[in-house]
Amino acid sequence: MKIEIEKDYLPSKIVCVGRNYADHAAELGNEVPKAPLLFLKAPSSLVRNGEPIVIPPQSERVEHEAELAIVMKERAKNLRDDEDVFKYILGFTCLNDVTARDIQRADVQFTRGKSFDTFCPIGPHIGTDLEVSDVEVQCRVNGEIRQTGRTSQMVFPVEFLVRYISRQMTLMPGDLIATGTPAGVSKLEPGDVCEVVIEGIGTLSNPVEAKD
Ligand code: ZN
Repeated sequence: MKIEIEKDYLPSKIVCVGRNYADHAAELGNEVPKAPLLFLKAPSSLVRNGEPIVIPPQSERVEHEAELAIVMKERAKNLRDDEDVFKYILGFTCLNDVTARDIQRADVQFTRGKSFDTFCPIGPHIGTDLEVSDVEVQCRVNGEIRQTGRTSQMVFPVEFLVRYISRQMTLMPGDLIATGTPAGVSKLEPGDVCEVVIEGIGTLSNPVEAKD
């Protein structure tokens, strides 16, 4: 089933998982973490399918990160190992974890480089009753494939992530979890069209603009 994303949808938080595909960790010269590496993106960075990604004047290198996103349905706190994680999940959507890579590196903290306005496209809708343990995640820029991976390559899979995060912070209905990106991140330029394509969900498409 497909659920439309409501117009006034605003999650309490967007929890992201860094370096959750070994090949992407390697391309940036990083080790695979021993536990999920968590960071937050500001909810004000959200945009929908078709809305522009705006490159801010502060960055010289803005990159795409195609990711499977989990949308929470129920409040989840301290989930036990034997609990069914999926009853807490509404569904899944495509998410582009747009990143100002130069700022991320310079700041060390991820907050600024990940949270500029328009840096979190999601959509085109939320897919429910989806089996996501082994689906293809792809990024295309102007129709050219830049990233391809399968969710089966995740270091920490969906169920593990929801349990783990629920033990660090309470997950609220509507909260998003971005599950990490496969290898192939690359620079976006004004005029590009960036697509995140996830098998069984659909295509999230956003034009890229520079701020005047
Ligand atoms: Zn990411």
